[in-house]
Amino acid sequence: MPGFELFGPEEKQEVADVMENGFTFRYNFDHMRNDRWKTRDMEALLCEKMNAKHAHLVSSGTAALQTAMAAAGIGAGDEVIVPPFTFVASVEAVFMAGAVPVFAEIDETLCLSPEGIEAAITPKTKAINLVHMCGSMAKMDEIKAICEKHNLVILEDACQAIGGSYKGQALGTIGHVGCYSFDSVKTITCGEGGAVITNDETIYNHAHMYSDHGHDHIGNDRGAEDHPIMGLNFRISEMNAAMGLAQLRKLDKIIDIQRKNKTAIKNAMADIDEVSFREIPDPEGDSAGFLTFMMPTEERTVEINKKLAENGVDGCFYWYVNNWHYLSNWKHIQELKSPADLPITLIKDRPDYTKVSVPKSDAIMSRTISMLIKLSWTEEQIAERIANIKKAFGQ
Ligand SMILES: *Cc1c(COP(=O)(O)O)cnc(C)c1O
Repeated sequence: MPGFELFGPEEKQEVADVMENGFTFRYNFDHMRNDRWKTRDMEALLCEKMNAKHAHLVSSGTAALQTAMAAAGIGAGDEVIVPPFTFVASVEAVFMAGAVPVFAEIDETLCLSPEGIEAAITPKTKAINLVHMCGSMAKMDEIKAICEKHNLVILEDACQAIGGSYKGQALGTIGHVGCYSFDSVKTITCGEGGAVITNDETIYNHAHMYSDHGHDHIGNDRGAEDHPIMGLNFRISEMNAAMGLAQLRKLDKIIDIQRKNKTAIKNAMADIDEVSFREIPDPEGDSAGFLTFMMPTEERTVEINKKLAENGVDGCFYWYVNNWHYLSNWKHIQELKSPADLPITLIKDRPDYTKVSVPKSDAIMSRTISMLIKLSWTEEQIAERIANIKKAFGQ
């Protein structure tokens, strides 16, 4: 998954170009920047690559989620269906919007399941935050049909799945609005950064205004711009966008390498009887950032996770016990820990987050291990890795 493995002269060149010829602010200052517009260039390239009408860069994936929610009209008191397996940001952003996260079950795609979503819908449900976890996608056709039936906004958190697609459509562009993260360890990185992507003009206009104090970005005199809405500052800097521009140009290459490396390891593991693989609704669209597999029992999963480490197979994640990626380990979220009262504390009939029960998700995640797929592996290293994996399984 990490694009930083391919850092080279291309990234340096783009960053140096900002320092030597450009300016660090993404808007205006036309007289100082010698026509350097790295943020705009990266946004245009994102639209082209993802076949989307609009992309707007922001300071992080988390900022993208918060911006996307506000831009799509998700706010005070709205219920948003979220998965229990994700990075905490997907849930935090809902709380910070003043909305109410409602946890629903995932299936063996490791994403929200159609049945899970359907069971969690109430008259207050406004949206789903559909997280495409670990490089691959949810069951989009079924989920879209449910959301259309109930008139729900589909927000795709594609922070871990850039470069993936479903039936030819880029992940992030299938719902109403999508988000990408370009933090330091993601598939491509800006250092820190994120993007909101959409085909909806209203959502796009809200997004660029919301993430810049409501500036309408009309004309070239920043101080004279109007402010149709309130917002915050979630701007990206030209330095970060410059790095990201060079990385985005490498995205296709990154995905190719990931797919090649993942296939080699997956093929080698296919004849281990006790292993089954995560369900991928459109295998051709897998971004292949991770190889994820399931064991028959929780006990055996714990054991194999330990054996993999002992045999030098690094980059394995047993998410079920991971601090940052599974609901049962998020005491702070369950107890609404915050330095100040959150808007949700004003909602009397809010869920009791200490009592959320997701038995189907528990049954899956307690048996699931993901392996990070690296870009820098040589053929010898892959062969050695496969041998070590086989050793861990006693073969
Ligand atoms: C990384 C990540 C985010 C947050 O992105 P940042 O750029 O780190 O703020 C959100 N959702 C998921 C699923 C992520 O993996």
